[in-house]
Amino acid sequence: MSTHAPPYDAVIIGGGFYGAAIAVYLAAQRGFRHTLLVEREPALMLRASYNNQARVHNGYHYPRSYTTAYRSRVNLPRFVRDWPLAVRQDFTKLYAIARHNSKLTARQFERFCRDIGAPVQQAPASLRELFQARLIEDVFAVQEYAFDSTRLAEWALRELDRFAVQVHYRTRALAVDKTPDGLRVQLENERGDKTHVDSRYVFNCSYSGTNQLAGDFPGVSTPLKQEITEMALMAMPAPLAGLGITVMDGPFFSLMPFPARGLHTLSHVRFTPHLSWQDKPGLDPYRKLRDYARVSRVDRMVRDVARYIPAVADARHVDSLYEVKTVLQRNEADDGRPILFERHATLPGCFSVLGGKIDNLYDVLEKLDDEAL
Ligand SMILES: Cc1cc2nc3c(=O)[nH]c(=O)nc-3n(C[C@H](O)[C@H](O)[C@H](O)COP(=O)(O)OP(=O)(O)OC[C@H]3O[C@@H](n4cnc5c(N)ncnc54)[C@H](O)[C@@H]3O)c2cc1C
Repeated sequence: MSTHAPPYDAVIIGGGFYGAAIAVYLAAQRGFRHTLLVEREPALMLRASYNNQARVHNGYHYPRSYTTAYRSRVNLPRFVRDWPLAVRQDFTKLYAIARHNSKLTARQFERFCRDIGAPVQQAPASLRELFQARLIEDVFAVQEYAFDSTRLAEWALRELDRFAVQVHYRTRALAVDKTPDGLRVQLENERGDKTHVDSRYVFNCSYSGTNQLAGDFPGVSTPLKQEITEMALMAMPAPLAGLGITVMDGPFFSLMPFPARGLHTLSHVRFTPHLSWQDKPGLDPYRKLRDYARVSRVDRMVRDVARYIPAVADARHVDSLYEVKTVLQRNEADDGRPILFERHATLPGCFSVLGGKIDNLYDVLEKLDDEAL
């Protein structure tokens, strides 16, 4: 039997928020000295961790999933405490309830907020006036924030450097295999050169790429859904500039500050998802997005949203963010966002982690605390 210790304590696949934060956790809390993080892009946090709605959830969005609502309430204060420089609180957040086709009424929304202990009050008349009363039953001022992913990326760079985590950019993990001493990760750089590294542990934090590793990697047992999404980046007219607005609960929309660009995202339940499929090995979501003909649906979004909030008609479309959104298939109906955390029994030392939303990191770290690494 071989007795060679692998050179790395851990290889992290994926330099999004989760991969970076887990690498820092392993160094800071678990004493890992030799960690390698591999990222296929030229920098950290360029994919889902950048291309998202930037909402630090506080529960309001999840009346159909009390667990997610409750976990959001627990995790938001922690996130604000740990990343104060990345959290933006300088806007007014409104939730409005549609009169027609909504899965809940304004009174039910208020009761739900009370149940989860989330602050809620009727919005002042000056803000309610922005909405078409014919279509909107009521409007509430709530406490919910936005995050600046560029600030999170700055934090990640600094901390990875402080803990001497090696980072290889433009490097793709192709496969994970068992060896007599641990695990072997096959890597490929952008020129197509292949190499491998050996490690005691592998953390697969590759989000949309979770099931695309070959070799002995078994895939995750939780079915995933992939969705090509478009969020329009808009310059909002003055009356909407200091606001974040979500209309609930059904085929409606959100406009949220996007601090990384000083703009707002506009997303719509009907128009933001362009294409979806059931995830499976060999169907590379990154390639699928790369080859997808991106024809913006912003006009349709604006047309529908302006029926509820007429001032949106004066918003200017600046750009659109396209990304693959990966969710657990079982949450299709309730819209919940639990974490996926799998320890692969057939590949000891290998874990797959998918966060669902940014503040779920704390749920992942709790799981890791329970692991005897
Ligand atoms: C449209 C949209 C809206 C969202 N809105 C919100 C929101 O408002 N609030 C919220 O909290 N969350 C939101 N989310 C979810 C949030 O973005 C994710 O939960 C979070 O960013 C996931 O982080 P991650 O590190 O797992 O993924 P990513 O940031 O995607 O990181 C995974 C990394 O792995 C790399 N990678 C993949 N495969 C490989 C490989 N084989 N080798 C090397 N590198 C690889 C990728 O390049 C990527 O950088 C949204 C997501 C989307 C798509």
